[in-house]
Amino acid sequence: GRQFRKPEKTRIMTVANQKGGVGKTTTTVNLAASLAQGGLNVLVIDNDPQGNASTALGIDHRSGVPSVYEVLVEGLSIAETVQACPEFPNLLVVPATIDLSGAEIELVSLVSRETRLRRAVDTYLTEREEQGLPRIDYVLVDCPPSLGLLTLNAFVTGREVLIPIQCEYYALEGLSQLLKTIKLIQAHLNPDLHVSTILLTMFDARTNLATQVASEVREHFGTETLATSIPRSVRVSEAPSHGQTVISYEPSSTGALAYREAARELTEREAAA
Ligand code: ADP
Ligand code: MG
Repeated sequence: GRQFRKPEKTRIMTVANQKGGVGKTTTTVNLAASLAQGGLNVLVIDNDPQGNASTALGIDHRSGVPSVYEVLVEGLSIAETVQACPEFPNLLVVPATIDLSGAEIELVSLVSRETRLRRAVDTYLTEREEQGLPRIDYVLVDCPPSLGLLTLNAFVTGREVLIPIQCEYYALEGLSQLLKTIKLIQAHLNPDLHVSTILLTMFDARTNLATQVASEVREHFGTETLATSIPRSVRVSEAPSHGQTVISYEPSSTGALAYREAARELTEREAAA
């Protein structure tokens, strides 16, 4: 397939927005698939108890399957949980099972509860290097729609935050709280963390509102916002029920083209990272 530019070092990106239904999971899996199709090695961590990213990537995530829950709560290594995506052998996935829904509470009483995911990811990347395995180019962490301990773990793990924004009326509401949280984490837990990327999702250029919201986002976040926005596309929403990303389900659909273009843009603006 087409070849994307390899980053100088592994880029670890947390896909977050405490609003539900804005396209976090869709963005995570389709960017990951695009990057993998472009020849890069990708690790997706499904950090949402709903396990939607695991479903969309065709990954077994029945209760009891080694998952991010065991990594966070029981100290299992990432190597013991990864599964390769059936579509792309160079796309690895740490699944989420329903067991993760208890983790938010179970983590509270554990030592170093905020740094558990980071340690696991750092160890995994180092182990691969020591074993002479190909370097992971991109790690994408899909987050639940909340700012609890699971999302906190993702923020401590990532260097970059990718915020999907749905172009609708309340799009910017809640964004300031998200940015405030990121600032706090920067100050106390992860000085490297910053918002590197904003992606406009489910964009409908025919409506004034979407156009207005998009230009407002670009006004505030000119450098962070990708030039490519993702259009609303039925194929994008159908793909998960086939256990596929739209990248392989309907490669020529507008949604697939947009995600591939967004991925290419992401790889080319590493300097901004
Ligand atoms: P989140 O992870 O933020 O909760 P999702 O990625 O699950 O959001 O998206 C919410 C819903 O919107 C899902 O049903 C998904 O299939 C749909 N969706 C996301 N992006 C698009 C798109 N570009 N076109 C059509 N439907 C989309
Ligand atoms: Mg989701």
